[in-house]
Amino acid sequence: MQFADVIGQEGLKQRLRDSVQSGRIPHAQLFLGKEGSGGLPLALAYAQYIACENRTELDSCGTCHNCSKYGKYIHPDLHFSFPFMSPAEEAREFLETWRKALTENPYMGYQEWLGYIQDGQKQGNIPIKECRAIIRNLSLKPFESDYKVLLMWFPEFLSNEGNVLLKIIEEPPFKTLFLLVAENSDRILPTILSRTQLVRIPPIAEEDLADALIRRQELEPTQARQIAMLSDGSYLKAMQLSEASEHELMQPFREWFLLCFEGNKLKLIQWTSEHSSVSREELKAFFTYGLYVLRNCLVSTYHEAGLRLADAEKTFIKKLATLLNTQRIEALYELLNNSIYYIERNANSKALLMDLSMQVHHQLRKK
Ligand SMILES: [Zn+2]
Repeated sequence: MQFADVIGQEGLKQRLRDSVQSGRIPHAQLFLGKEGSGGLPLALAYAQYIACENRTELDSCGTCHNCSKYGKYIHPDLHFSFPFMSPAEEAREFLETWRKALTENPYMGYQEWLGYIQDGQKQGNIPIKECRAIIRNLSLKPFESDYKVLLMWFPEFLSNEGNVLLKIIEEPPFKTLFLLVAENSDRILPTILSRTQLVRIPPIAEEDLADALIRRQELEPTQARQIAMLSDGSYLKAMQLSEASEHELMQPFREWFLLCFEGNKLKLIQWTSEHSSVSREELKAFFTYGLYVLRNCLVSTYHEAGLRLADAEKTFIKKLATLLNTQRIEALYELLNNSIYYIERNANSKALLMDLSMQVHHQLRKK
């Protein structure tokens, strides 16, 4: 991963490069930013920049021995740690899957990672054996580069047992770097938090997101700008919004939306029981499709020509738009967005769907 592969964040990239060029690299840093803002890609690009044998002022070279191994996430001096499921005891048992996930989507969130390593609803963990493995790995001399790097994704998952890492974080072996990538500092052990230097990652700027959507997802500029506007600075969300298209979700969404409009509780309860057994990922896709529909309602109120949709979908969205004003669209957008947030945090699907349906009903019938 090179800095050039990281979307936006130019100011932050410069600060990171400065730390390398001035030779003042803090030995333990916490990259803290919201999901999709690029913590993981930034930490990877930074570590590669440090290891590169021919770096320029702006970036790693991408081709030297160290870069080519860093680029494939197989450098022996780059150690990864991340949450995973028991009965596995060390992160390296998932290393192949981790590399695949990083290659496919370095902007992935925790839910996407869970999609790679399990299909049930078990929570990940960074257990004590993994902490001991970290200490063991870092006590070795670097093999091929100056620095050994431990990149830990989601230190939030360290329980109290994680305190065994304090000593090595405080007094690391020579030329050892800790790069922790986190989303929520409240959930990190305070003892660990206090031993790291904070690198705060802002949301990605809208222009940078739009630009990335045009170049990487091949979206039309207008569509890219609309999605960027609705993505809260998250490239992950932007990708999800651009991927949710007409397809098979239109029918169930239309059916649900009409039921919400009607507001018949009995019918809604029945619909909810029938649909709450689907997986979290499917439910998330359903809500994301709803966001996509609302976004298009918004476009259709301003200029119909901007709608690039299949016919059936266009008819549905145009009809829906007549029921909704901008304010209502925004309120509904927030309701669906919050539902995605709750579903990612293991909310009860049935209760969530029912509650959401009633809230949507009230929103639609509000004078
Ligand atoms: Zn290089």
